[in-house]
Amino acid sequence: MHDVLIIGGGNAALCAALMAREAGASVLLLEASARAWRGGNSTHTRNLRCMHDAPQDVLLESYPEEEYWQDLLKVTGGQTNEHLARLVIRESSTCRGWMRRHGVRFQPPLSGALHVARTNAFFMGGGKALVNAYYRSAVALGVDIRYESPVDRIELAADGRFAAAYVGDERIAAKACVLAAGGFESNLDWLRAAWGQNERGEWPADNFLIRGTRFNQGVLLRHLLDEHGAERIGEPTQAHMVAIDARAPLYDGGICTRIDCVSLGIVVNQRAERFYDEGEDFWPKRYAIWGRLVALQPGQTAWSVIDAKAAGRFMPPVFAGIRADSLPELARRLELDEAVFMRTLTDYNRACVPGTFDHTRLDDCHTQGLTPAKTHWALPIDTPPFHAYPVRPGITFTYLGLLTDDTAAVRLGGTPSANLFVAGEMMAGNVLGKGYTAGVGMSIGTAFGRIAGVNAARAARNEEAAHGLEPENLD
Ligand SMILES: Cc1cc2nc3c(=O)[nH]c(=O)nc-3n(C[C@H](O)[C@H](O)[C@H](O)COP(=O)(O)OP(=O)(O)OC[C@H]3O[C@@H](n4cnc5c(N)ncnc54)[C@H](O)[C@@H]3O)c2cc1C
Repeated sequence: MHDVLIIGGGNAALCAALMAREAGASVLLLEASARAWRGGNSTHTRNLRCMHDAPQDVLLESYPEEEYWQDLLKVTGGQTNEHLARLVIRESSTCRGWMRRHGVRFQPPLSGALHVARTNAFFMGGGKALVNAYYRSAVALGVDIRYESPVDRIELAADGRFAAAYVGDERIAAKACVLAAGGFESNLDWLRAAWGQNERGEWPADNFLIRGTRFNQGVLLRHLLDEHGAERIGEPTQAHMVAIDARAPLYDGGICTRIDCVSLGIVVNQRAERFYDEGEDFWPKRYAIWGRLVALQPGQTAWSVIDAKAAGRFMPPVFAGIRADSLPELARRLELDEAVFMRTLTDYNRACVPGTFDHTRLDDCHTQGLTPAKTHWALPIDTPPFHAYPVRPGITFTYLGLLTDDTAAVRLGGTPSANLFVAGEMMAGNVLGKGYTAGVGMSIGTAFGRIAGVNAARAARNEEAAHGLEPENLD
């Protein structure tokens, strides 16, 4: 029997596995996917949001705890646990040395990224390289890894202690366990039920695309909530959702399908009408609300429209924009009502107040007398060629999860389990009730993965002591 069983194979699971192993525990990691697809959503990531009080290798200036906390407070609208959030923030300032020791390398952001050189440390080679480095390190340290091992259910003792996990009929016992199997974002039926039917009779979730892995089906999340009465946190429709290219695949489109030109133009829905302030704030602070905004539009589809002036000012997505040399031609190519489209564009262009365009600050280019207003970076869309990108809601990860505290223990009927812990997306809702700020997903997974790993190793030792067993594999 292993000391610690880790369920999941992404960043949170790997951080937990490495920490438990470093604490002397024998560790078995079960990843649902085949080896080629290992690593879940973590393979798609690029960066980690890091607190720092002075410039550090790839991080410019400083990003103090209070500023990080205020950013989080703002985007979540207060739906966060301050104690756990500050724990994540402080951990983000100290974890990178440990990450480097396990082979993760950092680099400054490329120009055109989300203006995050001060706040976010980028992984060299992206999340795929990070995950591969962690797997290499785990294997070198003697962590046992099994692929194609989706856990269906777990067995708990009457006092809420973890006893075993099941992969089909196979029972896998361990002295402690860390759940790090992601959210339920890949489960189309669950998303459909959570979002329900809207006033137009549509099932909005039918038009969602999943930006990451297909393996985060939420099987264990549902099992823990429904079968074991685990305490929950978060709402099922709250999630990180961005506007992505409507032509992206259903799963694993990743970062290159995101449409980043929203703040440089306007966005119209199927009725060819605008519906939100495209220039409300800097894109890194707003990109994660656009998935939800598009989800509320008819057909859950919209078009981000720009003119030639926007070219070169944003990271181009993988699919080319739909091009036209005139606005009426663009309307026809998008199969939108040409008269309404032209009215929307004309009204917008007329409402733009001349100013000094500067995409690096909240500039004075705004509209006047237009609803909804565009409050910054409002330049007339008048210079051919014109481009439009069709967008749909791209769901990154869901926030409904397991309630926990600073020990990462799963809570069952008001009591923390002695040997069952949770990390990553399965508990991110404790910190993120809604909204998002770039890089905090990996901060949460890294902080809680590391805590869960250490506490699981300790719990395994306690189990041995309680049962009078000789500790095995301890340093
Ligand atoms: C396109 C994209 C870009 C992103 N970019 C960033 C970024 O730059 N910075 C950032 O901070 N965050 C980013 N995120 C969010 C980030 O990916 C997550 O917050 C983070 O990776 C979550 O880590 P995790 O370990 O909890 O989940 P995952 O990495 O998804 O790992 C979950 C693992 O559990 C496995 N699993 C699922 N069910 C089972 C089961 N029943 N049994 C066994 N295994 C199971 C899966 O196969 C997977 O390996 C991005 C996400 C996406 C999709």
